[in-house]
Amino acid sequence: MIVVMKPETTEKDIAEISERLEKQGYSIHRSTGENRTILGVLGHPREGVAEHLEAVPVVEKVIPISKPFKLACREFHPQDSIVPLGDSGLTIGGEEIVIMAGPCAVEGRDNLLEIARIVGEEGAQVLRGGAFKPRTSPYSFQGMQKEGLKILNEVREATGLLIITEVVDPFNVGVLEENVDILQVGTRNMQNFYLLQELGKINKPVLLKRGMSATIEEWLMAAEYIMSNGNKNVILCERGIRTFETYTRNTLDLSAVPVLKELSHLPVVVDPSHGTGRRQTVPAMSKAAIAAGADGLLVEVHQRPEEAFSDGHQSLTPENFSGMMKELKEVAACVGRKL
Ligand code: PEP
Ligand code: MN
Repeated sequence: MIVVMKPETTEKDIAEISERLEKQGYSIHRSTGENRTILGVLGHPREGVAEHLEAVPVVEKVIPISKPFKLACREFHPQDSIVPLGDSGLTIGGEEIVIMAGPCAVEGRDNLLEIARIVGEEGAQVLRGGAFKPRTSPYSFQGMQKEGLKILNEVREATGLLIITEVVDPFNVGVLEENVDILQVGTRNMQNFYLLQELGKINKPVLLKRGMSATIEEWLMAAEYIMSNGNKNVILCERGIRTFETYTRNTLDLSAVPVLKELSHLPVVVDPSHGTGRRQTVPAMSKAAIAAGADGLLVEVHQRPEEAFSDGHQSLTPENFSGMMKELKEVAACVGRKL
């Protein structure tokens, strides 16, 4: 259930009420809005507890939440969540659209530095690049791993871009937390609940990709695993789902964007590269994503896609990316966003 406090409630009132509920075995998650504080009270509600709470003078109302995702739902946090990225003041979920661009995988220092400079000059704020690559085939390139993390770090130093990379293993959460600005959970790990729990114990933003066969509710429950463990900095990323269609690699479910905006307060990013698997389709779907209300894009760009170690066919060239960014700026302005 959700307990909405009256605007005049003091910190002491909140501490008292939280302590009382914690003693009864509930866990309390606080959401502080402009005018009021909302407490998410998680646990099996005992009979009469809502009535008791409603009788407390500083409580405005108690709302039972029927949805299973209690912390990710819009009722818990009526305003859009704005998630800080790095220490540069950049945020996601507000007016500014965030572009995360770069190669599928880190392939070497000089390569990454070159593409980082290119995407940065075109207006990307975040550099993407996988160091740990979970691949469908065990014979495919598995990423540069720890060496890749070192390279990402060097390129961040050299360019000032923020870094996003994928985390595939609960044991690596600590080292990634130290080395990157945003940790990405890939489609194959959306329901790796031990990984999600570990990510709940850190404070860095987590970009949670949609499982390729996951419903929106399953996806929001995965976000709930992270949030209920303490980390509220979750960003959702639509990356396409499996359907009967084979012309595109996946079917990019852009309707998920407005649906998520209705159900949840979390920022939403769209990945049109894995979502379609076709370079030619990426600019149109990127524009559509921004028009549909996405807060950011995750896009693969490579200086020589034909030589890429992975996903070259869906990677934009620098020229493609430059052209797309110009168009995206116009679309962003049309929907009242900054880019
Ligand atoms: C990626 O973005 O590098 C990636 C592997 O994507 P996904 O998990 O969506 O397949
Ligand atoms: Mn890829």
